[in-house]
Amino acid sequence: MTSRIYYTKPSITEKEIEYATDAARNGWGERCYEYIHRFEELFKQHLGVKYAIATSSCTGALHMGLAALGVGPGDEVILADTNWIASAAPITYLGAKPVFVDILPDTWCLDPQRVREAITPKTKAIIAVHLYGNLCEMDELMTIGEQHGIPVIEDAAEAIGSVYHGKRAGSIGKFGAFSFHGTKTVTTGEGGMFVTNDADLYEHVLTLSNHGRARGQTKQFWPDMVGFKYKISNIQAAIGCAQLERIDDLISRKREIFRSYCEGVSSISGISMNPELNGTQNGFWMPTLVFSQETGITRENLQAAFRSESIDARVFFWPLSSLPPFEPVLKNRVSYDIPGRAVNLPSYHDLSESDLRRVVNVIRSLSASVSSNQ
Ligand SMILES: *Cc1c(COP(=O)(O)O)cnc(C)c1O
Repeated sequence: MTSRIYYTKPSITEKEIEYATDAARNGWGERCYEYIHRFEELFKQHLGVKYAIATSSCTGALHMGLAALGVGPGDEVILADTNWIASAAPITYLGAKPVFVDILPDTWCLDPQRVREAITPKTKAIIAVHLYGNLCEMDELMTIGEQHGIPVIEDAAEAIGSVYHGKRAGSIGKFGAFSFHGTKTVTTGEGGMFVTNDADLYEHVLTLSNHGRARGQTKQFWPDMVGFKYKISNIQAAIGCAQLERIDDLISRKREIFRSYCEGVSSISGISMNPELNGTQNGFWMPTLVFSQETGITRENLQAAFRSESIDARVFFWPLSSLPPFEPVLKNRVSYDIPGRAVNLPSYHDLSESDLRRVVNVIRSLSASVSSNQ
């Protein structure tokens, strides 16, 4: 009986266990923020930003950041239709409307031309989500933002290790948000990070993150505004510190896994994978295969083939506008087309060479059987 291959699994070593144990044993009282502050420092250094606030999730980081930018009822926020709902949900929490636009066929990220067309007087922000590690066209999006006076936000939850013209994903826009959910490249179980280079925005979000209590407020239990409670715990941050000490290895293993899949399928025609455009580095959070229409291979073929070999393969994100809470936007052709012939491959750090070969063999035999039927 062959063992099951999961699509994600955290990379946990003795270091994570040691730090978490130390936090559980000693990280209380005066020391209850030690790992949290260290986690924020390490993350700032890694990313090259001035300010960071660790949170309980990326969703929470986005919610606070959007609130601090003044997004509210009646406002619109533009983002790609191809996305996980966590990028859109905080917009709705604030009473604003997510405006879903189409993606580029090669990066599967926001199409800047579609962003331009979607801007109205109500547009309050643009959220650039770096999908599966692939980078958005940040230069163009930042230009559009400047021309219209609209902040561009980066949801970099999937883009640890991705670099755009020398800058790490998440460090370019008005603010960046990260996730350390158990499926992400760096994990704390659950967790997130808000980052920015804007001192005022940082102070505002810091106050919001502490139930509205400003740093300089000397009165105890005296919130100056209604804030949020999206804090990370010291124990989670301890695991995060260990992960950040290993971040170069965590990123390079993701890149190795991608390369291995790339080589494995290179002889099969009609497959495209996550691109790495000139001047960029892709963190390859989720190696993804998109089959061309000509191959005739569908999501259902792929799911069945992987399932029969006890391998987890994930469906490509459905267009958010096709989900029950939203209105369909059928003109988003690319977003509606790609999921029907795409799949995410397993990509956790501890995958062995033979695991990788098993995954590649499924793709090879599926491609061979489909082309022999044609
Ligand atoms: C995982 C993910 C999130 C949500 O992160 P949480 O920490 O679970 O809130 C948000 N955006 C994107 C793009 C993600 O992949």
